[in-house]
Amino acid sequence: MLTLKSRREIGLMREACQLVVEAHRLISKMIAPGITTAALDRVAEDLFHQRGATPLFKGFPGTVPFPAVTCISVNQQVVHGIPGPYELREGDIVSVDTGCRLNGWCGDGAWTYAVGEIDGLKARLRESGQSALQTAIQGMRTRKRWSQVARQIERGVARDGFTVVEDFVGHGIGKEMHEEPEVPNYDSEDFEERDFPIKTGLVLAIEPMVNAGTSEIMILDDHWTVVTADGAPSVHFEHTVAMTKEGPAILTEGLGQ
Ligand code: MG
Repeated sequence: MLTLKSRREIGLMREACQLVVEAHRLISKMIAPGITTAALDRVAEDLFHQRGATPLFKGFPGTVPFPAVTCISVNQQVVHGIPGPYELREGDIVSVDTGCRLNGWCGDGAWTYAVGEIDGLKARLRESGQSALQTAIQGMRTRKRWSQVARQIERGVARDGFTVVEDFVGHGIGKEMHEEPEVPNYDSEDFEERDFPIKTGLVLAIEPMVNAGTSEIMILDDHWTVVTADGAPSVHFEHTVAMTKEGPAILTEGLGQ
């Protein structure tokens, strides 16, 4: 069921979202060649623990429960990468996604960071992913239905020469991390039945995943890590955004800064 949130509830969600932003700040300061992705994950776990927040990703059900507090996906990994012994290298791009529940309300946010100097393709891909997210948020202000926003996202990414992942989508968020509606980053024929109007009180986790090559993906044997089918790099940017009477409000404001 799609639930609309009150101003008070959106305020509570902002607090959870700002804790997610804080986790990202701590992690982004540590990102450098030689650090393991497991070390980055530990920082988020410690922070949520200290603040009495519940991590939303750890134990998330699947063929095997997700084992960590963050998803950390490097280079050709799209989303759902498992933190571990991999040491970041100069020139990597690293997508960090995390979420928590604080005082009963959820926040979710992802960002793709550069490790030192990255090549031109990865830099353009990061630009494209960030502008896809901005396009989506602006679209909430100017468009009436999500399908119109999704079409804008897809067209912008295509103009940049890249592709949008279709197998994974954003989601409504509230007391639960994954609520209705599904929030795709592309338009298609089958969209009609899933389309929704952009109404005050809607809170969405908007999360375009942009690939340098094909939009096709594969899942590794660990049952979680999603990689591009052609091995080309991928980026992921996600904000939790509330639609208010005044327009879209970015509850994860500050992410990536
Ligand atoms: Mg999400």
